[in-house]
Amino acid sequence: MNVSIIGAGTMGNGIAHVFAQHGHSVKLIDLDQERLDAALATIDKNLGRQVKKEMLTAAEQEETLARITLGMSISDGVVEADLVVEAATENPEIKAQIFSSMDEDAPEEAILATNTSSISITQIAAVTSRPDQVVGMHFFNPVPVMKLVEIVRGLETSDETFAAVRDLAESLGKTPVEVNDYPGFVSNRVLMPMINEAITCVMEGVAEPDAIDTVMRLGMAHPMGPLTLADFIGLDVCLAIMEVLHRELGDSKYRPSPLLRKMVAAGRLGRKSGRGFYEYEG
Ligand code: NAD
Repeated sequence: MNVSIIGAGTMGNGIAHVFAQHGHSVKLIDLDQERLDAALATIDKNLGRQVKKEMLTAAEQEETLARITLGMSISDGVVEADLVVEAATENPEIKAQIFSSMDEDAPEEAILATNTSSISITQIAAVTSRPDQVVGMHFFNPVPVMKLVEIVRGLETSDETFAAVRDLAESLGKTPVEVNDYPGFVSNRVLMPMINEAITCVMEGVAEPDAIDTVMRLGMAHPMGPLTLADFIGLDVCLAIMEVLHRELGDSKYRPSPLLRKMVAAGRLGRKSGRGFYEYEG
């Protein structure tokens, strides 16, 4: 299958990796040549890791890389696509622009999927002339490792589109889960309020961050405590998702914790800025 992937950042490179590894011909598109080069280097490094673990052979690593081509034009990148997976910056205007341009240039029967974490699939689909062929394909980071794909049905997504994408996710060795288009889908609707509540516990002095994480790891068997996870995701990303839940669902239970707002304002964004609820070296 010809798969075009728009956006070569954290998620785009992982999605390209998985499709290419499973024999699909991949076009990876980004506005930024440096991001494209970095993505290919990351894919090569991650494939190398799989070879070391004897999950792949060195020949399969080379074959996988050879299935990926890079490009900077969406129009050229999607003309032969059977499926496009958009994994560009999380911004409604950027996504609307990408979807209307893909809609013009991709073959009529192509499915247009988005990896968005928080933007409405129905809203994205509405800028195209084929809302029945638009669907959410929400992968998790790191894509080559994480098994879950939330397959998100917009209001107009057809049964055929849903079934095609579900079967494809299975063929990539993933576990697809059917979800309807509501803010945060299932993953962030359940995860983010938990993280937000953990932050409120810090704010109210219920316990220290490390104590809260220990309770959730040892008491609830979570592999990572909520504050460690928040630092990993990025506190700015957590705040943006809480704001979407709060605004779109209109319920005060989704109010972002004032401490979360304060930390983002101070530039304490977690791992990526060297400091969040914990401190990081390098
Ligand atoms: P990122 O910032 O790492 O990468 C985004 C890339 O999109 C950048 O390389 C940028 O140059 C490119 N881009 C921006 N506008 C473009 C355009 N018009 N055409 C082509 N490329 C363009 O972002 P990311 O973390 O990979 O997230 C991408 C998407 O995946 C977002 O919708 C995000 O919500 C979603 N997502 C992220 C995660 C995560 O853990 N990072 C998990 C699940 C879903």
